[in-house]
Amino acid sequence: VQIAVPKETAPGERRVALTPEVTGRLIKEGWGVRLEAGAGAEAYYSDEAYRNVGAEIVSREELFKGAQVVFTVQPLERLDLVQLEPGTIVAGLMYPHRSPARVQAMATGKLSALAMELVPRITRAQSMDVLSSQATVAGYVAALIAARESSRFFPMLTTAAGTIRPAKVMVMGVGVAGLQAIATARRLGANVWAYDVRKAAAEQALSLGAKVIELPISAEGEGGYARELTEEEKKIQHEALAKEVGNMDAVITTAQIPGRNAPILITKDMVERMHPGAVIVDLAAESGGNCEQTQPGKTVEVNGVKIVGPLNLPSALSVHASEMYAKNLYNLSKLLIKDGQLAPDWSDEILAGALLTHQGEITHAPTKALIG
Ligand code: NAD
Repeated sequence: VQIAVPKETAPGERRVALTPEVTGRLIKEGWGVRLEAGAGAEAYYSDEAYRNVGAEIVSREELFKGAQVVFTVQPLERLDLVQLEPGTIVAGLMYPHRSPARVQAMATGKLSALAMELVPRITRAQSMDVLSSQATVAGYVAALIAARESSRFFPMLTTAAGTIRPAKVMVMGVGVAGLQAIATARRLGANVWAYDVRKAAAEQALSLGAKVIELPISAEGEGGYARELTEEEKKIQHEALAKEVGNMDAVITTAQIPGRNAPILITKDMVERMHPGAVIVDLAAESGGNCEQTQPGKTVEVNGVKIVGPLNLPSALSVHASEMYAKNLYNLSKLLIKDGQLAPDWSDEILAGALLTHQGEITHAPTKALIG
């Protein structure tokens, strides 16, 4: 069974769907793997390294011929989709709400599209969870950016030139990315405060050495995610956080609500209360931002407060982000094959959950409702 891996074309995308190591494993297990020349270049994996494990390196024109499975990081462009045979399985990030036309094109082409971000977050699927693996990278990089952009040291220092107090860092949104940001800021020696609307997050933050800001709000939604706050809750949150944020040297925000724009946690008046030289790193920049003044993809300075709105942070660590992403795909590949034949059980909870289009239909109900 042939897997094709293209070179990613999205601007700023440095990851590759398969690493040489995972490619070698797949080939040993009987898959054929073909990659576009230069597919791994931005993650420092050479064509040679893939050839050495038995993969074929081809041009983009050759790539999709005879491919039964395509692994990507970012969604394929429509120009590529039309080259795929009906029944081809395409697995990668899909962002269906951002591009309904592409979803329609995949349905029309009778492709079986597996949106990796829709893999259900059940225990059995943990090893295929790209949201978690990539959020781990993003949270780590966010803490490094906060330290780099900060005008102050993160650690406490006792030197002949005086004693430096450790930085005060707040992490808002303590999911996978937030926990990694806490851990990283702690390793750099900062004092860390954590805030989340889910009670379960508090214990995890505490175990990493953060202090927890507790508010009388509990907004556990479905499936371990947060729900949107009511107006009353937003007011309580705003008042309590405004005071805390004003004392911080750095704030890292990661709050997300599935299927919605990210909630605003830091308003303009809160930024005004922060001291010059402080920094905000807004990991939710891609989905609108947790800070009112975030500009996605940019760093802006407001009264001396730097507001960083980074995009695609996992690409900043392309080697390890690709390694983790490729392992997620490798684990998923086990659900696609039986006795050397392509034989996905589409009723399996994991595949059914991730399946966006199949046999000419849009199979993911929320996307179908969106497209109408
Ligand atoms: P996410 O990216 O959806 O959101 C990040 C965090 O923002 C969450 O912790 C959320 O509670 C928080 N948030 C939302 N609105 C907020 C607000 N107004 N104020 C403050 N914080 C707010 O989250 P995630 O990292 O994808 O994790 C979501 C859940 O899924 C967690 O409970 C996590 O433990 C769980 N999870 C389970 C599995 C699994 O079992 N396979 C894998 C990964 C994550």
